[in-house]
Amino acid sequence: MTIWNPWHGCQKISPGCANCYVYRRDESIGKDASVVTKTGDFALPLKKNRYGEYKITAQDGVVFTCMTSDFFLDQADPWRQECWDIIRQRSDLDFHIITKRIDRFEQCLPHDWGDGWDNVTICSTCEDQQRTDYRLEILLRLPIKHRQVICEPMLGEIDMQKYLAGGLIRHVTCGGESGDNARPCDFRWVKELRRQCVRSGVPFTFKQTGAVFIKDAKLYHIPRKLQMAQAKKSGYSYIPGQDCGSAIKYTLPQREQLFERLSRSDFRSRFHLSANDKDYVIQKGIDTVRSHARDFVAKRLSPENPDNDGKQTPLKGHPVFVAQHACACCCRACLEKWHNIPSGKILTADEQEYIVNVLLEWIQRELKSH
Ligand code: SF4
Ligand SMILES: [Zn+2]
Repeated sequence: MTIWNPWHGCQKISPGCANCYVYRRDESIGKDASVVTKTGDFALPLKKNRYGEYKITAQDGVVFTCMTSDFFLDQADPWRQECWDIIRQRSDLDFHIITKRIDRFEQCLPHDWGDGWDNVTICSTCEDQQRTDYRLEILLRLPIKHRQVICEPMLGEIDMQKYLAGGLIRHVTCGGESGDNARPCDFRWVKELRRQCVRSGVPFTFKQTGAVFIKDAKLYHIPRKLQMAQAKKSGYSYIPGQDCGSAIKYTLPQREQLFERLSRSDFRSRFHLSANDKDYVIQKGIDTVRSHARDFVAKRLSPENPDNDGKQTPLKGHPVFVAQHACACCCRACLEKWHNIPSGKILTADEQEYIVNVLLEWIQRELKSH
């Protein structure tokens, strides 16, 4: 990885900027970060060594561009075309541009941009729902070859399901805020965003906890050096096809507590076996129904990312389907919310058997009730 900062300094434009690290760092050395200046590294990607070879090569990995400013900042308008020239010249490098100003993208493009350049990835920052709705709508309709989303610092719960669904967003990264005045990041938001990414098969990186992290309604202060390590250790990043959720540690709920909680949910407690369902169970016998349950769980719930997840369980037509809704075993999101079983993993034989046992216990309870 290389960092290329052609200019330095920026203007705050959104809630994510409140504790901007460029401002924090500049303040600590008595510098005014709102003054925007070209840097000595302006033409860094074109610099050559004494053998006439480029100093930065493709082997150095991604070139993160404009990390102490914003590439689409209006004050940089006079300099940007020259940067595009450099990027065009270095078609062998992979430039990533992270911006909060995706709405200025169109007026900042080079004449030959066409439908995008292969060597440029545009990463739009979305720290909350309002910024997500405004910026992703723009990001998706622009001619860009590679799009990513960065929710950092994540300042609230974000629903970007509809933007992920089209398959145009290649990666989502999220993380909390660091620094003395950091605003809290709730693990619930991270998990929810991950679930959306799993459902759409989009790679997801949980990059850092931030300095103030909320987990299970408890607030934790995380030292700087542990913020990335803790996020990594949580296992909450996701790469499609790699059974990533297996790294996540979790505990299955106690059976009695689970049934108690389900009975308190207006939605879950509405489900009951009909007279026909009960007749079906009695006629077929509990062992046959158990084998049907095993089959449904294996086929519809167990893959890392099941087809049609969220809609794979009909509301009726088989007593097991009804039990699945009543017991929150209808889809992977419900399995995670109610049973702690992470999405984005292949269900193990034990996990499948646990689900089947919960369903059969509910069915047997129903048979006993009138
Ligand atoms: S856009 Fe980025 S660099 Fe500019 S003030 Fe906001 S957080 Fe800082
Ligand atoms: Zn569900």
